[in-house]
Amino acid sequence: MKPCIELNSVTYFHSHSIGFTSSRNRILNNVSLNIYKEEILCIVGESGSGKTTIAKIISGLLKESTGTVKYSNDLASSKKAIQILFQNSEELLNPHRKVADVLNDVKANGKALERILSDLNISDSLLENSCGSISGGERQRIALARIMLTQPQVLILDEPFSAQDIDSKENFKSLLTYLRKNQKITLIIVTHDVSFIENFADRIVVLFGGEIMEILHAKDFFDFPKHPYSKFLLSSTMYKFPIGFISSQLEDKKSSCPYYSRCNKRDEKCIDGIMIHNEENSYVFCNNPYIEISTEDK
Ligand code: SF4
Repeated sequence: MKPCIELNSVTYFHSHSIGFTSSRNRILNNVSLNIYKEEILCIVGESGSGKTTIAKIISGLLKESTGTVKYSNDLASSKKAIQILFQNSEELLNPHRKVADVLNDVKANGKALERILSDLNISDSLLENSCGSISGGERQRIALARIMLTQPQVLILDEPFSAQDIDSKENFKSLLTYLRKNQKITLIIVTHDVSFIENFADRIVVLFGGEIMEILHAKDFFDFPKHPYSKFLLSSTMYKFPIGFISSQLEDKKSSCPYYSRCNKRDEKCIDGIMIHNEENSYVFCNNPYIEISTEDK
């Protein structure tokens, strides 16, 4: 299958100046990733891993410093085809305006509006309220409705589950799954919260220090992650930081692996470079990934 978006060796530097001095930080390094039509792709990693920067580059809000981003013809020909809903972007809704007026700004035709209102379970009575008088979950649905009225083909959501209680998160997940199926959109979800993407994502991209650690099917991520950082993300309460197990000879060495200083599987090989382990639709950027042993081999 041909991807609808292809990132090839994307690197991004953030430049800033203070007085006469300027510096630049590398936020993303050599990120290559294919995104397929109508999939739910979740990009996971901790704060500062570069997740939101990837989202902004895919949406065109930021331009990659080096590398390329290619779009399929239908995405490239429409400026509105890729939309992004930022964390807390419902706060952008003017609290003094009526919900109906906010949605009418988009100037969608009546049928499209009717369908979105029904898909997102937005009642007539909600339309009459001011944006400031409705709940956080309702505001998030209104912000989503406004974006959906522009008929995106790719929808990027940045931390959509933050600041929601568990029931609202589950409802929002069901809503997104429904939208993907019925409106045939591609969903890219950026989140640090891996607990809410099980039974939801199709594929997962694990990011650390601006680099991809692992790309794999969601089921494989939850059943048997191969990268040490993926294991850490999934069991951070049980996982022990590896300080005591690491040879002190390796302690001061520099490695091209961003996870090196925290990794309990690092060894001399990790100082020289990183091997890519590539199986069917799965990539692990690690010299010593966890290997699944089939029960027959045990
Ligand atoms: S390449 Fe080495 S240091 Fe990096 S995650 Fe794998 S084992 Fe750890």
